[in-house]
Amino acid sequence: MVRKKPGIEKLFYKKISRRAFIKKAVIGISVLSLSAYALSQLLRSRVKSNIFRGDAPPELWKWSKEAYHYTKLGNNVQCRVCPNQCILGENDRSICRVKVNKNGKLYTLAYGNPCAVHIDPVEKKPLYHFLPGSRALSIATAGCNLRCLNCQNWQISQSKPEETRNTNLMPSQVISVARSNDCESIAYTYSEPTAFYEYMYDSSKLAKQQGIRNLWITNGYMNREALLDLSRYLDAANVDLKSFDEEVYNKLNSGRLRPVLETLRTLKEQGVWFEITNLIVPTWTDKYDMIEEMCVWLYKNIGADHPLHFSRFTPMYKLTHLPPTPVKTLEKARRIALDAGIKHVYIGNVPLHKANNTYCSKCGKILIERKGYQIKQNNIINGTCKYCGEEIKGVWF
Ligand code: SF4
Ligand SMILES: [Zn+2]
Repeated sequence: MVRKKPGIEKLFYKKISRRAFIKKAVIGISVLSLSAYALSQLLRSRVKSNIFRGDAPPELWKWSKEAYHYTKLGNNVQCRVCPNQCILGENDRSICRVKVNKNGKLYTLAYGNPCAVHIDPVEKKPLYHFLPGSRALSIATAGCNLRCLNCQNWQISQSKPEETRNTNLMPSQVISVARSNDCESIAYTYSEPTAFYEYMYDSSKLAKQQGIRNLWITNGYMNREALLDLSRYLDAANVDLKSFDEEVYNKLNSGRLRPVLETLRTLKEQGVWFEITNLIVPTWTDKYDMIEEMCVWLYKNIGADHPLHFSRFTPMYKLTHLPPTPVKTLEKARRIALDAGIKHVYIGNVPLHKANNTYCSKCGKILIERKGYQIKQNNIINGTCKYCGEEIKGVWF
């Protein structure tokens, strides 16, 4: 006769004394709490390693303001603007390099001190379905909440505000400069505006009151609550969707994919117009399977109408050993996106490529012809194709 092994239920229900039971339970709970503690310490040390220590120079405090969206934790403070959720002790500086805990309060040191101020065509953001040919006053302070190995603006994004050359430009002055230069919009851009949230928020609020639009050019790494507040003043966004793989996000960008997808959903839900940029970095984000998965997700969750820009990588920052993205790779990615059902798919950083133009998704005619950032012809009338009447989604004059 074959001896039956005891079933799991038998082992589980095996009679033990009350004392032995309590002993085992205590051991079990201790092991669990120890593991949770070890895990929390591990996560904390990972985050802590990106946190800077030491006093900010006194002259920087003239560009400070008490931060929005933070929680006091005794003498520590926790910022809730982005998924990094920095916990800062006294004088600690945040991962994004601009926030500091002073006497148990969280302050931003990036308020009214942009290190970049330019007037750009809106096409440069890139926003191809937003007031074509208009001008955007573009501003950035130092700082970023990610650490992309391929950053194009690392000189400012990976710097503290005391390490960049700054201009004094308070929110009311930002509006005046935009107005006096005939800019239809203000773009918060170049580094990562999530880092200078308070400056962007106050400027956006003022701009909106005065009929100037606000553009958020971003990595999308922001918490929902902060984004819901900001969305009230936003007219458009371009969100970098850096890949569709958590591991790549972790290694290439020091971030996570899921919060960025949440941002896309929130913008959609709030009715903010947005376009998406995907930079194809050779050996990192050039996997066609991943690109297809991303396009299918976008089509299902965001819809067919939000433009997708595949952008060409040029060797930069810590990835200078890689070649530029082959144009054929970008073209193949574009084909994958169109086949997935996305209506408007562009190729960026390849001057004069025909995929810089906007084509009607119904009749296929050229609607907006672009040469570099210049508009050569625009055949969209009242948001529709002049040839066949198809509606083209976006924000149009
Ligand atoms: S915005 Fe800056 S301070 Fe706030 S959680 Fe993100 S990285 Fe930390
Ligand atoms: Zn048409």
